[in-house]
Amino acid sequence: MRASCQSFDDGTLGAEWPVLDALRKRGLTATFFMNSRHLQSQDAVKYPRRYAGFEVASHGASHKGFAGMPEGQVRDEIETDQKILGDAFGQVIDGFAYPYGNVPKEAADLVKLENQLRALGLIYARWTGGAKDYAPPADFMRWKPNCGFLAPVEEFLAAPAEETVCVRMSFTHSIGFARGQISFDAWEKILDRLAAETAIWNVSMRDYARYVMALRALEKTEAGLRNNAAIAVWVRVKGRAIAVPANSTLAWSAL
Ligand SMILES: [Zn+2]
Repeated sequence: MRASCQSFDDGTLGAEWPVLDALRKRGLTATFFMNSRHLQSQDAVKYPRRYAGFEVASHGASHKGFAGMPEGQVRDEIETDQKILGDAFGQVIDGFAYPYGNVPKEAADLVKLENQLRALGLIYARWTGGAKDYAPPADFMRWKPNCGFLAPVEEFLAAPAEETVCVRMSFTHSIGFARGQISFDAWEKILDRLAAETAIWNVSMRDYARYVMALRALEKTEAGLRNNAAIAVWVRVKGRAIAVPANSTLAWSAL
């Protein structure tokens, strides 16, 4: 019932290597937002094997603010990342983080941009503004971090998580470690805690978003509970966790 997602923006010229090692050593994962056309992500793009097992996602090809950006340029910023990052890392690039957290101020402009991002194949967009609790985002196109990067894991474990899979989601820049703005030691202590805590699912933002979307799309049919997604999800019935396998219907009698 609890998941943890960590994300890192920009790549930034080798500062990321110790970050990747620290995660890999503990069997943890994270999401890395890159700019395929910007200098700051070029080391990452040159050494894609270092990112094996981690999610790579789009941060806009040129790291420009998206508020007021013409449609053609939005398409170019996303598609260029999808092509270059997709080819380099061997992944479908379907996640996105707004550079500078810059989103259109007018509601209508924002909705129009989000529709375009969805049409370009994105399933979530990360903001920088803080969400107030650990509930899954109501709308994955407006996924806001809900804790500081070095927030104690205990705070998350103490929060209620009875209804659905809650998530602790934070972001930072790897360059912050290299510049001494974030304590690597403090972060490693959090990683040790996350790695030891079996109640927390450490997961990429993509896989968390897919899971919650599959959970929300469960259908009650005459025959039973229908899961149309390509992944299994779990439901809780009278305190028991029951798997609903991918692309199948679980009979009511089995629940
Ligand atoms: Zn950035």
